[in-house]
Amino acid sequence: MVQSKEEIAKTRKKYYEKNKEKIAKQHKEYSQTKKGKMNHKINSWKQKPKNGYGLICENREEYEYIYDRYYFSSHCEEPKCNKEYTEDNWKCMDHCHDTGLFRNILCHSCNTKRTLKENNSGISNISKQKTGWQYRIVIKGQRYSKYSTDLEWLKEYKIKFEKENLYNL
Ligand SMILES: [Zn+2]
Repeated sequence: MVQSKEEIAKTRKKYYEKNKEKIAKQHKEYSQTKKGKMNHKINSWKQKPKNGYGLICENREEYEYIYDRYYFSSHCEEPKCNKEYTEDNWKCMDHCHDTGLFRNILCHSCNTKRTLKENNSGISNISKQKTGWQYRIVIKGQRYSKYSTDLEWLKEYKIKFEKENLYNL
């Protein structure tokens, strides 16, 4: 027997009413898992701030790459700072509010300072391409890019490039 849309919705509603507590418990348990925490964080990054864009990635893989980088980051990525994160100076995902592009994982203090430099420099991103990865960065309006099939190599390149160019302007 084929069920109509209304019937399916009704069945679902009935199931939900009957299993409310069980479903709430499942949601709670899921939110405690690594995947649940990741999804919650990524969703919060996508939220629009007061001015401009939330984090915009080209695909899911890129969001997860940024999350991993955030998760494993132990020290501020601004080389001049390089402080370990603390309860009072926690880690932040830094992105450009004008373009939605990811920049760095920074301590709260550097992230606040960086916001003031918006438009000037540091709009950077690694994105998945058809056959590999592309690193892009805009420094004072000038665009640089590097392509590689080796993501780990490109991540190293990005760190080195930014150490040499981004903070010495
Ligand atoms: Zn810092």
